[in-house]
Amino acid sequence: MPPTLSPPPAPPRPDWPIPTVSLRIDDLSHPGAKLFLDNVDPIQIMRDSIITVLQWLYVTTDKAPRAMQTILLVLRPMEGVAYTTGSETAKEIHFACQHIVNCADRCADEIRGVLVHEVVHCYQYNGQDTCPGGLIEGIADWVRLRSGLVPPHWRRGGSRWDEGYHVTAYFLQWLTERYGEGTVQEINELMKDAPYDESIFKTVTGRKVSKLWKLYIEHLGEGDGTGAANLDAVDACVDSDSEGVSQD
Ligand SMILES: [Zn+2]
Repeated sequence: MPPTLSPPPAPPRPDWPIPTVSLRIDDLSHPGAKLFLDNVDPIQIMRDSIITVLQWLYVTTDKAPRAMQTILLVLRPMEGVAYTTGSETAKEIHFACQHIVNCADRCADEIRGVLVHEVVHCYQYNGQDTCPGGLIEGIADWVRLRSGLVPPHWRRGGSRWDEGYHVTAYFLQWLTERYGEGTVQEINELMKDAPYDESIFKTVTGRKVSKLWKLYIEHLGEGDGTGAANLDAVDACVDSDSEGVSQD
């Protein structure tokens, strides 16, 4: 009798700490609310976003922060895209219904991308509130970038390393390609128990951040010869311009 072949046991699902997630929709008649409900499963997308963020920022479950108890997602009519507020144990993510309408043709991806960005704000370290906003936003968009959720209007380049959002995200990704996976995670970790200090870039890479930015821009210029460093076109999602301003 041939030996019985059975599939290997499924790997245990890693024990990521998932807080209690709630959803509030302030205007069910808003077309953005309907698009949301028609295109995503609220609990699934929130769980997926939380696990994605914890995996990218902390890699292993033992390093993941465990203080978070509740995350409330609020869909409501408001200006801008989204923002996150709250305490160390309870967060609220406010998401603009109109933004979903503005990106209706690709709304499942956009919802996922925005939620991943906002969930980073729930879990990232911020140097005891001293981290520059540009780095905070850059790390949030770096996780979105690594999660394969890049919206059509993002471009490499920019004028400053701490410009934030996708400008800083692509810079962080270049650092990762140059100095190894773990670079951004280490920058985040160094802001856990100490105030932000620009020298964390030197600690992680051996170079000052000003020099790193110079090298990055030079690298982009070599890329395709079109001066990609200064490309900052905004062309796709109608509300994309406001993401630099209103997505916190
Ligand atoms: Zn943000």
